[in-house]
Amino acid sequence: MTVLAPKYMERFRCIGSACEDTCCSGWRVTLDKKSHDALSAAMAESPETRAEFERNVRRLPVAQATEMTYATAERDGEGNCQFVRDDGLCSIQSRYGHELLSNTCSLYPRQIRVSSAAVELTAQVSCPEVARQLLLHEDSMDLVSLDDSVLERRLASEQVAEGDLYGHYVDEVRHTMIQFAQLRERPMRDRLFFMVFFAQKTASFFHRGVEQDPGPALSAVLDRMASPGVLDAIAAELRRVEVPLALTSTLVGEIGLVGQPVSPSFARLAQRVYATLDECRATASGGAVADDDRDRSQPPAAPSFDPEKLAALHQRRQQRLYAVAGARLDGYTERFVINYWVRRWYTASPDLLQHVRDLLIELAVAQLLLCSHPDVLAALERPEASGPDGNAALDEALDRAAVETFSRTSRCVEHSQLRPLVNERLAEMGLPAFASTTCLLAFASGATAASASPRSLQRAS
Ligand code: SF4
Repeated sequence: MTVLAPKYMERFRCIGSACEDTCCSGWRVTLDKKSHDALSAAMAESPETRAEFERNVRRLPVAQATEMTYATAERDGEGNCQFVRDDGLCSIQSRYGHELLSNTCSLYPRQIRVSSAAVELTAQVSCPEVARQLLLHEDSMDLVSLDDSVLERRLASEQVAEGDLYGHYVDEVRHTMIQFAQLRERPMRDRLFFMVFFAQKTASFFHRGVEQDPGPALSAVLDRMASPGVLDAIAAELRRVEVPLALTSTLVGEIGLVGQPVSPSFARLAQRVYATLDECRATASGGAVADDDRDRSQPPAAPSFDPEKLAALHQRRQQRLYAVAGARLDGYTERFVINYWVRRWYTASPDLLQHVRDLLIELAVAQLLLCSHPDVLAALERPEASGPDGNAALDEALDRAAVETFSRTSRCVEHSQLRPLVNERLAEMGLPAFASTTCLLAFASGATAASASPRSLQRAS
């Protein structure tokens, strides 16, 4: 059996106690029935371990329990699984071996999907080591074939059902979106807008539950987009759009940073970034909060930002950073975006527009955190940072901050209500899906122009 994987999976190794995060931080860890029963038997070895099992594992009510989701591991006050030791490692693994880990723990951060061509192995960016291998290597998304011994447990999380006309085009749609992401002569904001545009043009006939083969209509949209000059015209359309920046900053700032329960590692990062946004803070009446009035030991409470000030500050910081490190930032974004399309099949969403919006919500929050990350701001202040060759200290600070912001934002997205909350808020505002998705672009990427002349889209053979 062929296992296809991006190159970062070939390099990935769990770094265990050297890891800056804990896998299960902020998670509701589930146990499948087989793993539950095996652990229950192993922990019957003494009254102490039996009591520990009873304390730490909770069976789900019969009406909710399934073979795959049978019980959960209780969490401590920090949101960590109670089986985690002080050094961050898992005590089940250290005492009973890898075989007794539940499917969830055994697989994480890996994900297995079965496409028409192969078994695909990817990983979740919420693991910082995955984020490092993905974001910091130019070839990380090159595909490689791996031996099937890399699949310890063959648990495919997704595969296309026979006769599913929506899922049938997984390979074609991913190929298209990856091509958009790789139009490197164009600014990243345009590349992302091509995805939004394609999703909008196909939304009426390409969605979950579609009964007519959408193939010919998909091809027609792609042929049109591949015609000479069409991508230029679409990019020009984006420049004409008036983006309601204050709205975006409300969504990204209020919801992304403070308006929802998050994992402890994300909360710590948000708190550090939040401290660099003092000039944007607002009281309920809209006035600025005096610095002395703030209790820094407490998490920030909404309403916390003046949306217009936050939007303006983010734009200033983003432009400044892109001016000295645009190519580096675009590299992180490109690899993250390609991994998103490869790893998270659009069949998880009712249509492509929703799927693109989910991507942009995550990118917008990560960009806000990265452009206002205190270590990046400090590196930018050094005189060498604005020199023609940039400087190694800024590159290093950016790499570290990118790994932190992307991995923690992904963790927050995977285990909190970030996406549903933003989507809900957008729906309440009554904005059409296309407009609300487009307005996230301004936060999700910088708009630096690339140097080479624009390429057009090539159709897959
Ligand atoms: S988050 Fe990743 S690197 Fe860290 S302990 Fe978990 S699997 Fe290993």
